[in-house]
Order: sequence, then C-alpha cells, then structure tokens
Amino acid sequence: MKRDLHIGCHLSATKGFAAMGKDAVKIGANTFAFFTRNPRGGKAKEIDPEDARALLEIMEKEGFGKLVAHAPYTLNPCSATEKTREFAKMAMTDDLARMEYLPGNYYNFHPGSHVGQGAEKGIEMIAGLLNEVMSPEQTTTVLLETMAGKGSEVGGNFEEIAAIIDKVELKEKIGVCLDTCHVSDGGYDIIGDLDGVLAEFDRIIGLEKLKALHINDSKNPMGARKDRHACIGEGYLGKETIVKVLSHPKLAGLPCILETPQEDLEGYGREIEMLKGAVEL
Ligand code: FE
Ligand code: FE
Ligand code: ZN
Repeated sequence: MKRDLHIGCHLSATKGFAAMGKDAVKIGANTFAFFTRNPRGGKAKEIDPEDARALLEIMEKEGFGKLVAHAPYTLNPCSATEKTREFAKMAMTDDLARMEYLPGNYYNFHPGSHVGQGAEKGIEMIAGLLNEVMSPEQTTTVLLETMAGKGSEVGGNFEEIAAIIDKVELKEKIGVCLDTCHVSDGGYDIIGDLDGVLAEFDRIIGLEKLKALHINDSKNPMGARKDRHACIGEGYLGKETIVKVLSHPKLAGLPCILETPQEDLEGYGREIEMLKGAVEL
C-alpha cells in the first residue's frame, strides 16, 4: 500500500456498516462512500450501534482514511418548493445525528439547484439551511461538492462555493469535496493545468478547506456542464490526469472516492488496483 493514498468507491449500504467495511477491504480500498439514505429520498434505516462499532474497528485495524458519506440526490436546500426544502432540512438534521455513530467523518452534499431563483438566492438558502442544522457539538465535517454547473446547479464554480462558506457560521465544520468530472465539466482545466486550478481553488476558497476528492473520468470535454461520469481512462480526463490528481503533493492524504460507472464490486477492485499501481507518492 502506497503511503498516504486513501482510495475507495461508493458502496451499497443495504447490508449495514460492517458489511461495507468488509467489502472495502475485499477490493483493496481504505476509505469509501455510501448514501446515508435512499438516494431518491425517503426515510432512513434505523442505525444499529453495534454494527457502527464493528465498522469503526475494521477502519482502525486497516488504517482507513475518513469516510465520505453522501446525502441523497433529492436533497435540494434551495428548491423553490417549500416541501422540498423541508425534506432537505429533515434529512440533513437526521443524517448529521446518525453520522455521530461514526464520529469524525465527512458528510458530502450537492449544494442544490436554484431553479430560476438565481444563484445569489440559492447561496443564501443553502447557507441558511446549514446554519439551521449544524451544531457546535457535531464531530462531522459537512462538505459542499463542486458541481458540473448543469442546469441551475449552485456550486459550479469556486466563487459560489466560497460564497456559501462565507455565510456559514461554524466555519471549522464546513469543507469542500472536489469532483474531478464536475470541475472539468465546469470549465476548470485539470488536464492541462492542475497546478493552476489548485492555485485558483486556494485563492478563492482556500486549500485547507479541501477535505475529499471524487475521482471520476468525464464522458464530456472540459466546460460541457453535463455531469456524466466515465470509468478511469475511458473519458476526456484520461488515466494520466487522474493519476496526477492522486499523486499531487497538495492533495496527499485526502480520501479519494471513485464514482465511476463500474458494474460491480470486482470492477471497482480492478480500478483501485490499477490506480494504486500507477500512483507514485
Ligand atoms: Fe455527488
Ligand atoms: Fe461526485
Ligand atoms: Zn456527478
């Protein structure tokens, strides 16, 4: 295992926490992501504290990096519909309470789509929700995901992410998850100038806020704003760009989560093995 490389993928949560830990180990992963509830919304499963403890034991024994839990896609804090905003508040409050069974990890969410209300209004509503649901006692860091800028998505550029963070009261509990497919789709040239993109991130948001990476190739060229993930090496970013990201000294130690369209666990195992073999740290 290469020093400091924390790599894993999205895993199914249907069999519980410890089962995900075992699946991760089986495919050579030392971090992973999972949906905190059905990605299409709905009520979350009851947490079994014993099961959560069993996962923490596996993580400790295997030297896992931080986990990157993912909020459901349907969560939209800046919807124009009150019912949708109410769901966002309920789900996030509940998810953050449940995350405390796995203390000190990450909870990532898509900032949302302003659906014609304008980015400024969206930013206000997103930060407003965060200020309502976050508490000084929580051990979880909430991560805003950088988005492809599809439709009316908020967070398709670093300025919007920074504007949200700027309005969040508990600054030490908010961070960013950078998605390689999304930033390329959003017009950031990580293929030709990764150092330049990271310098821009640092100038606008601050690199100390970057807590996790979503590692995806993109089915579309830079600036496409489409958000269609490809397996590593099968898209416009290419294996070389992904390896550069994974090897970058400024990104060392961050949990790196594959969200590629692999068909099964074995596929992710092969992708992880291929990347571990290619990354020089
Ligand atoms: Fe995401
Ligand atoms: Fe992502
Ligand atoms: Zn995506």
